Amino acid sequence: MLRKDTFTEEQNAIRDMMRKFVDNEIMPIRRELETDPQLVESVFQKLVDLGIQKAGYPPEYGGTGPGSPTTLGIVCEELARGDAGISVSCGINAGFVLQAAMVAGNKAVLDKFIPPFCGDKINYACLAMTDSTGGADTENPLLKGRGIKTRAVLDGDEWVINGSKSWPTHAGISSVYFTVCNTDYEQGEDGIALIFVPGDTPGLSFGKPEDKMGFKTSVNASIFYDNVRVPKEYRLVGPGPDAHFYYATMAGTQWHSSVIALGIMRAVFEIILEYTEGRESGGKPVRQWSMVAGILADMAIRMEMTRGAVYNYAYMMEHPEVYGPPFTKEMVAKASIVRSYASDSCVWITNKAVELMGSNGLSPEYHLEKYLRDSKITQIWLGGQQISKYRIANGYYDYSIY
Ligand SMILES: Cc1cc2nc3c(=O)[nH]c(=O)nc-3n(C[C@H](O)[C@H](O)[C@H](O)COP(=O)(O)OP(=O)(O)OC[C@H]3O[C@@H](n4cnc5c(N)ncnc54)[C@H](O)[C@@H]3O)c2cc1C
Repeated sequence: MLRKDTFTEEQNAIRDMMRKFVDNEIMPIRRELETDPQLVESVFQKLVDLGIQKAGYPPEYGGTGPGSPTTLGIVCEELARGDAGISVSCGINAGFVLQAAMVAGNKAVLDKFIPPFCGDKINYACLAMTDSTGGADTENPLLKGRGIKTRAVLDGDEWVINGSKSWPTHAGISSVYFTVCNTDYEQGEDGIALIFVPGDTPGLSFGKPEDKMGFKTSVNASIFYDNVRVPKEYRLVGPGPDAHFYYATMAGTQWHSSVIALGIMRAVFEIILEYTEGRESGGKPVRQWSMVAGILADMAIRMEMTRGAVYNYAYMMEHPEVYGPPFTKEMVAKASIVRSYASDSCVWITNKAVELMGSNGLSPEYHLEKYLRDSKITQIWLGGQQISKYRIANGYYDYSIY
């Protein structure tokens, strides 16, 4: 549920453009995209040609940004209506990874890593958070950095990184790895270090791409850091601010997950509204039966509440003078509320839609089974729903174990 003036004219035009793009370039090949990486590349290249990749970057580097969360939300929501994997890739490449460096003004990082994203070729970025020892520990703010096991040690003018990450999107194909490290577990949050690692650094290696039930159009793999050395200026800022930026990244990624969930819900709702109109039972369209109408109404409630929450939170991120910076416990908690509600609603809606379609719901021909597979991942990543609940509780009272 949104006010009519939520979006500017320009944002409405971007939504129309993205909707057409998805209808023409993604919807007709949704099934094929899941098994044909070259087809996925060709869609990405069209997005680059549209100027989406450089949209989040500053003009001095060739970008057309800075973008706003609302505009990014519109683009990623529309893309997720077509394909969630393409949507998550787009969000990551169009600035998510380098956003912290842009806000912090780390010129060494910006000069080195931004230009390839503003060219006319596809360029991938990777947000390397999830340690192989457990994503929940890496993302649990109650552990105050102690769960982050990838280690960074300063040796002269270089950081030396050792450890491993599991499942990051774009592992193995990126030009930059925004790596969440720890310099000293005993220091708690002061030990958190965010370090940008070039993709061709010696000592960096990757596992084979993961096979997974959904998000098949984006690549996930393990990353291994074996005495990986990078210049010390590739650390984002330093002790203290890096923890703030990590929490801001947690908030931003939770919100992005909600945007993707919203796009999936919209696609599913469109499909099931149409199907239950054409399919008859007892001589009338299935959706004219009250039990079905009630389920469709429940879907609408969850979708509209998610839509309102997603763009409300985008507005809050755009107005730190009112709502505070994005790393506060309150802002992180609110992002987790939106994510938690959005992903549970997304799974509920897709699951119910499959039921309402009967056996056809299980057939790839009708696409719902794809959205069901994709929807589950919005509950799993970013530490999972349980860690989201910790973040939420932590925003309302002092919930600390250290
Ligand atoms: C499609 C996809 C894309 C991804 N993209 C990225 C990415 O770009 N970057 C990145 O870094 N990672 C990424 N991941 C990894 C993802 O974020 C992690 O898998 C996720 O955080 C969960 O970590 P885990 O699998 O290690 O689960 P675990 O940490 O082993 O947790 C397993 C379960 O136990 C629960 N649990 C653990 N500890 C607690 C606790 N203390 N209290 C209550 N419950 C607990 C968790 O909530 C979870 O349900 C991606 C994963 C997928 C599937």
